[in-house]
Amino acid sequence: MLASKYFLSTSKEVPSDAEIISHQLMLRAGLIRKLASGLYTWMPLGLKILSKVENIIREEMNKAGALELLMPAIQPSELWIESKRWQKYGPELLRIKDRHERDFCFGPTHEEVITDIARKELQSYKQLPVCFYQIQTKFRDEIRPRFGVMRAREFLMKDAYSFHLNKSSLEETYNIMFNAYQNIFKRLGLDFRAVKADTGNIGGSASHEFQVIAQSGEDILAFSDESDFAINIELNHDLKDGDPSPDGKGKLKLARGIEVGHIFQLGDLYSQALKAEITDETGKKIPMQMGCYGIGVSRIVAAAIEQCNDEKGIIWPKAMAPFELVIIPVNDTVKETCEKIYQDLIKQNIDVLYDDRDSRLGAKLADCELIGIPKRIVVGDRNLKNNQVEFQGRMDKEAKLIGINDILGAL
Ligand code: ATP
Ligand code: MG
Repeated sequence: MLASKYFLSTSKEVPSDAEIISHQLMLRAGLIRKLASGLYTWMPLGLKILSKVENIIREEMNKAGALELLMPAIQPSELWIESKRWQKYGPELLRIKDRHERDFCFGPTHEEVITDIARKELQSYKQLPVCFYQIQTKFRDEIRPRFGVMRAREFLMKDAYSFHLNKSSLEETYNIMFNAYQNIFKRLGLDFRAVKADTGNIGGSASHEFQVIAQSGEDILAFSDESDFAINIELNHDLKDGDPSPDGKGKLKLARGIEVGHIFQLGDLYSQALKAEITDETGKKIPMQMGCYGIGVSRIVAAAIEQCNDEKGIIWPKAMAPFELVIIPVNDTVKETCEKIYQDLIKQNIDVLYDDRDSRLGAKLADCELIGIPKRIVVGDRNLKNNQVEFQGRMDKEAKLIGINDILGAL
């Protein structure tokens, strides 16, 4: 990509209404723009990152055997009255009327819609288990939208729903999803913990949250320094740092976390209410068992920045970085060489940005650090005489000289 043909809009100024570092950096790097409270536009650079997250999630969901579909954002009130959530949900649910004065809501989640699909499409236990998922825009009229896309009103979620003949089949898929989530957050390069969690507004029995460890997190987690034991302390407020872990292995550590995923064993909560029934092996009609599995796709981008940044800007985990490498010319005399390096790298399928803009060298260096491009090559006429360029990783203290033919190797 040529920077002159792309859209980069960076700023040195820290926006006064952004409290946490990820929100500040997302605005300063030009990833998002605010439309109104809790409503954000993803600019091309931001969307590129968001799409990378989305694709990793999609790949792991497909690998786990889930089937992608896409449900409407707008949902009729009748379904929510059937599940009794039309009354229960409160003002977070954005209710709207159509031209015929019929009630609808903008979906904050899709248990009702998918259960309606299930009761119409699934009749026999032979069709089970099945797991559907979508990557779709949700709306929740949050009481306090804040921290940019971290707690927005409109946001992108991956939500999956599984249907089963019995509890053991539900548990099996729940474990498959649990593992898929581990793979997703590992591939994204995040420092996270899976913790036992409360089931909240969605309901059901067993539940785990996936929490990215970060100072600015809204949740407090307690986890063992020796075993997998980990819990959201909203389930047990008495837990203290240094206590022996309840599973007898190691000591508890307390840390703040950002919830990026939440999985539930719903049981027959929604299938009872909406009469989503299936005939079992004996021909008897029984309500299906159900699981649901959410990931905050857009929140992940903010959480990653919250976890890794420095005074210069964003440090992306490899899987999320908007470009692999940036080429920066020191002045106009080296532009021809830069162009050639750029074309060669494109041929090798490297996602490279060539900063061919008419701006100062210092501004270009600051931009690529702010945006968080993992590697950069600075091309200067003096080094070129020895067929060399400067190569520097985003975290490296100093640049090193490498041969102009060794760039691919250095990557
Ligand atoms: P929270 O406790 O943060 O409000 P939640 O328990 O309401 O989250 P779920 O209903 O489980 O969230 O939704 C699935 C995922 O969607 C969450 O794990 C989170 O990552 C994301 N999410 C929820 N609310 C928001 C929001 N307002 N803005 C961005 N992402 C959100
Ligand atoms: Mg919530």
